[in-house]
Parts: sequence; structure tokens; C-alpha cells
Amino acid sequence: MKLTFAGAAGTVTGSMHQLEVDGKRYLLDCGMFQGRRKEAEQRNRWFPFPAPSIDAVVLSHAHIDHSGRLPLLTKNGFRGPIYATSATVDLCNAMLLDTAHILESDADFVNRRHPGEEVAEPLYSKLDAEETMPLFQPVRYRIPVNIGNSLVMESYDAGHVLGSASVVLTDGKTRLAYSGDVGRPGLPIIRDPEALPPVDYLIMESTYGGRKHPQENEAVGKLESVMKDTIGRGGRLIVPAFAVGRTQQLVLLLHHLMNENRLPSVPIFVDSPLAVNVTEVFRAHPECFDTETYTYLQNGEDPFGFKRLTYIRDARESKQLNDIQGPFIVISPSGMCETGRVLHHLRHNVGNPKNTVLLTGYQAENTLGRKLKDGMKNVRIFGIPMEVRAVVESLDELSGHADSGELLDWMRPMTPTLKRVFLVHGEPVSSRPLAEAIHARYGIEAVVAEPGQVYEI
Ligand SMILES: [Zn+2]
Repeated sequence: MKLTFAGAAGTVTGSMHQLEVDGKRYLLDCGMFQGRRKEAEQRNRWFPFPAPSIDAVVLSHAHIDHSGRLPLLTKNGFRGPIYATSATVDLCNAMLLDTAHILESDADFVNRRHPGEEVAEPLYSKLDAEETMPLFQPVRYRIPVNIGNSLVMESYDAGHVLGSASVVLTDGKTRLAYSGDVGRPGLPIIRDPEALPPVDYLIMESTYGGRKHPQENEAVGKLESVMKDTIGRGGRLIVPAFAVGRTQQLVLLLHHLMNENRLPSVPIFVDSPLAVNVTEVFRAHPECFDTETYTYLQNGEDPFGFKRLTYIRDARESKQLNDIQGPFIVISPSGMCETGRVLHHLRHNVGNPKNTVLLTGYQAENTLGRKLKDGMKNVRIFGIPMEVRAVVESLDELSGHADSGELLDWMRPMTPTLKRVFLVHGEPVSSRPLAEAIHARYGIEAVVAEPGQVYEI
């Protein structure tokens, strides 16, 4: 086996690794870079491998930083199968089309603003996304599938987002595990990460490899207190959240608070056509739910719907939220405040000290979300300078990524035969301490992968 690291090496976005086995080439994920616009755009356009030379893709989960360049792969000539769980396939259907729509609209916007200049081409079109969908081959957890001459893959629940998988790939001689993104025990809706069998090599994410999370069970309490404080000030609560996973978790937690009468009676809006579509995908995949969420269903309750909660698709209705008097809560993507409707809500609300911005996930370097999280008081939204006077809070308890201790525990079942770990999907400040911790605890070498590095295993 030969491994080449391309994306999410030394950073958290753009996941893409190539595995060569027996004359065939496989991509492990095909994700999009996120971050500073111009830089991300350039990095996304440059594809590290010739697309027609790729025989198949193994997709760990639907998040755009893992799946977002699949339509570009198709556009460039890839025609092979894409292996993913059926929940991941359904989520990709919603997300890749949405991403293509955003790319097309952005290119349109640039072309209208700068007529006569070089025409901006979207990275890919809706048609490219549509042509990608038939390539998907749904796989089931713990059912081995032959995906090449001698290569067999088996998926395990990664407990990170609906349908997320860690995979074990074996050619009969070498066993390689790819973690994808590893979740945490006790997250709302989805099941806990599953144990993988012993393997020879492991490619593991390291997003939070250098830190420890607060306990998950504090999430409901923190959400409650942030809401009460904001509403007490007569302010609005703006919650930038990923449309996939985080939005549904927040809705379920709000449902808990509602059932226990701990929720002040204010309107709650989920403002995103994508989040609405994705919530439908969640409803269609109860086989991925944990026991608690499944029980909700069996008791005849909709985990993702309740009184005072309104889902908004329409852009006009979204704009009307600005005219509502009195406090309300709006949950809207993107989670890192880079694109999407949340930017409009931030523009209207970030200058008012009564309001709160509640960040709910990882904020990559150079994103508006990271700037807010770091306490910057002057930011730009749609290019307009804004003073941040709203309160900024973080709900890290909902993180979909295991922290360093949880990653070390998760990898333990693999260690009896493990020869080496490759750390990806982490900024060096996270990956390096994790590499040291792996060596200290298990005596196993852990390498922090760099872009372009090649390993024979
Ligand atoms: Zn993810």
C-alpha cells in the first residue's frame, strides 16, 4: 500500500488522501478547503491527483470539508464508485447541490459587479453535482465490501454526524484504518463512536488533539443560561451552526428544555433551506439514532419539531426576521460565519450589546467565526466594517470531535498490532501534542502528516 497525503495535512479542512493498492488508486475523502476566501478558492481549484486516474472514493462522512470537491472530481473526469453509508449519500445529495448553488451564485455576483473583466467560473456547477450522485454506492456498517482487486473495506459508526464512518481497508496483507472524523460519547441524536478491530496502520484526525472538552452534559444547562441572559436583556440570540448535525442537535436540546418548561417562551427559527432539507434526511434515517432519540420517535414525538419552532426556507421570510419586535432565537448556517444567511443576521445584530452570538463548533483559522471567538471588536461582514458590541459565547460542549483523551481511548482497541499512526485534520498545535501523547501512552510512533508526503506501508 502507498499513502499520499494531500489535504487536511497540517490543517483541518480539505480532507483528501490517496491510497494506492495493487495498481489501483483510491481517494479517502475529497473535501473542500475552507478559510480565507481567495486562498481557499485557489487551493480548491488545484486538484492534487489526475481525476481520471482515481478508481474509487471512500467517503467517511458528508461534511463539506470531506465531500465538497466530489463534483469537481466528476467535472475533471472521474467516473468510479463513491462508497459511503446511505445516510451520507442522502446528506451529500442535499449538501453538494447546495454548495454548487452557492458557487454559481458567487461567480454570478462577481461577474455582475465586474463586467468586462475576466469571467469568473464557479468551481463546479449544479450539473456537476447532479452527475456525481449516481456514482454513490451505499454501504452498511460492519458489512465488508470488496472495492477493488483485493481491497476490502468495512465501515464502523464514527459517532460524529449522521451516517459518519471510520473505515478499515485490507488487501489481505496490510490492515489500514481511516478514522474520518471521530465523535464523542454522549452526543445528542447519534450513537457513540464504535470500536475498530486491531490494525497495522491508522490515519487519525487530530482536530482537538491538544485539548480537553468540557463535559457534554453541561450543554443543555449552558444553552439555557445563555438564552435566559440574552432574553433578560431583551436581546436576540444568533446561533451560527452547521446545517448538518449541529442544527439538529440544537433543536433536540431546545426540545428537551421546552419539555421541561425551562425555556423562556420566545420564537425560535431555523433559517436555512439546507438545514430544512437536511433535517428531512435525519428524519428518514432513524436507524442511525441513539436510544434516547429513537425513544422520542416511538413515543410519537418529532425530535426535530415542536411548538414555537419554525423552519424557514424562503429568503423573504428570512429578511422579515429583522422586523420582529422582541427577543427571538435564530439558528442559521454557516457554523464558521463564512457564508449563508447567518451573515445577514450578524450584520443586523452584532452591533447591539443586548444581543448574543452563540458559536457552536470548531472555528477554523481566518474565518469570521474565529475572529468573533477570539474577541475581535472590529470585523468585516460583506466587506463592511462592523463594531462587535454583542456578547459572544461558545457552546464547545457540542463539539462533534473527540478531544485528546477521547481519541487516545478510541484508538486503544487497534493498538495491539498497530505499527504507526498518521495524524491528519489538525493544526500543528493540536497534532503535535497528540503525537507525543500516543507515544507516551502506547509506545507507538505517530507522524504528523504533511501535504505531499508519501509513505509505503
Ligand atoms: Zn466532520
